[in-house]
Amino acid sequence: MPIDLSNSECPVDRDLPSSLMRATVDQAPVAISITDLKANILYVNAAFSEITGYAPQECIGRNESMLSDRRTPPEVYQELWGCITRQQPWRGRLLNRHRDGRRYLADLTVAPMLNEAGETTHFIGMHRDVTEEYLLQQQVRQQTLFLETVVASIPVSAVLIDENGRIVLDNLMYKALASDLKVEEPALLFLKLLREESGEDWNDFWHREKAFRNLELRFDPGGGRPSRWFSCAGQWFRHEEGSVDGFFSGSEKGYLLLTVDDITQQKKQQEQYRLRGLQALMAEEEKLESLKETLFAAIHQIQGPLNLIGAAKNILDRRGDDAGNVALRDLLQQVMAAGEASICTLEKCIPHSDNNAFKPVNLNQVLHDAITLLTERLLASGIVVEWVPTPVLPSLKGSENRLRSLFKQLIENAIDAMAHSRRRELRILTWTRDQLIHITIEDTGPGIPAGLRTQVFEPFFTTKASLGRQHVGMGLAVAHEIVNQHNGLIRIDPDYQEGCRIHMQFEIRQTQPERPAKVSHG
Ligand code: FAD
Repeated sequence: MPIDLSNSECPVDRDLPSSLMRATVDQAPVAISITDLKANILYVNAAFSEITGYAPQECIGRNESMLSDRRTPPEVYQELWGCITRQQPWRGRLLNRHRDGRRYLADLTVAPMLNEAGETTHFIGMHRDVTEEYLLQQQVRQQTLFLETVVASIPVSAVLIDENGRIVLDNLMYKALASDLKVEEPALLFLKLLREESGEDWNDFWHREKAFRNLELRFDPGGGRPSRWFSCAGQWFRHEEGSVDGFFSGSEKGYLLLTVDDITQQKKQQEQYRLRGLQALMAEEEKLESLKETLFAAIHQIQGPLNLIGAAKNILDRRGDDAGNVALRDLLQQVMAAGEASICTLEKCIPHSDNNAFKPVNLNQVLHDAITLLTERLLASGIVVEWVPTPVLPSLKGSENRLRSLFKQLIENAIDAMAHSRRRELRILTWTRDQLIHITIEDTGPGIPAGLRTQVFEPFFTTKASLGRQHVGMGLAVAHEIVNQHNGLIRIDPDYQEGCRIHMQFEIRQTQPERPAKVSHG
């Protein structure tokens, strides 16, 4: 606002002696000068002399341009003069030269002073030496730039997240990752994956600001795109927030520097070795399973006649002790004892696998393993596989080997079922809802008739006799047993009409059962 000298109506003005007004200007801690319309200096205060180095008698009568360092671009002065001649104040920064030749940065305000007629009679200039402030600002900018350059050149994706989960800073690799994954903010996805994967440790990582590193996360982007693997590390630090809120009280904020390294290639290699190992392990397990099946079948075969013999002996027992029956009853007793001893011996021969310890298992991974292990059979059978995993699946506490056998068995069943189908499609989905992990395995085979949907889970029940392969009907019974061991449910979806859809569900936060359930074979 221009300063209007005609306005003496202000009540404060009337009460204040003009000597006080003069003393105020004289002693103001900002450099004040009053000039004529050509910027010739008429008055300077003490702070002006202090800041410029010129005593009043050295500058009064001279032009303000005496302070110019000549490095300030002429446009700045043109703007200054343009403003003040339109009777508007001007504020800006220019380079001034101190009496001793030293340059300093002046933060200058120039305002016109008006008379009663509204004409400019003088100009008032007020300036501060802001060199130090500027240097500090520059220093901070340089440091920020330096930090940004360091973060940008980190050879992994790096992102700085504040304690409210907001992205503060990221680097080029992070941006590239975002476009590669087709995800707007991968950091939020990784935080979600971390929360799901780390379980109770998440509290330490996020709320207690504990550092972590080498945390491997798997991401299934879906849409037919391959799984990706990332190694994550997080380091927390506290930083004073640059807002006025913290001027008196201080307002430190926590920041998490999250670095994410794409280890998909290494993982793929490891995966190949792992799959080879798995194939060997599964072959071994299958041998054990088929031996088990054979032994169960043998026990089943012996148990049937034994039951009949037992029934016959009961009838004889009820008829009483006549001479002819005693010998026969003894004989039956001996046959039964021999049969039970054989069953006992066969039961002792049932092999037990040692690789079934319960630990956190990612079912997406295990399903993926099962599909990969059966790739050759699927291709040979001309089956189109649609694998639709949910991108983030919490882990389940269970036996990785048994679960893998379960899924492998179910997929093998589907392959067998589609042997004579024209349409051969296998669709595998995972999702979570209501604290449950859901899995469906769908095929386009003939399906299972409504009347057999419960029976098929019973031991030694098979519908595959005509397929030419050896089946004793233990596949779904064992599958049922494995699901039971994991406190899950398995059923055949009655609403699915295209073939067979097996639906399984497992509790997300379930614990290991005290004793694994035994397969019944009676
Ligand atoms: P030019 O910009 O070429 O001007 C030379 C002189 O011509 C000016 O000093 C002025 O007397 C006159 N003039 C120029 N344009 C106009 C116009 N549109 N109307 C009327 N007269 C004009 N400059 C600094 O470098 N440092 C300061 O601290 C500073 N403080 C100032 C304080 C006040 C109150 C005023 C009014 C001006 C101030 N100036 C200051 C500007 C200064 O007057 C010069 O414009 C500037 O220094 C450029 O110098 P120059 O020799 O290139 O002058």
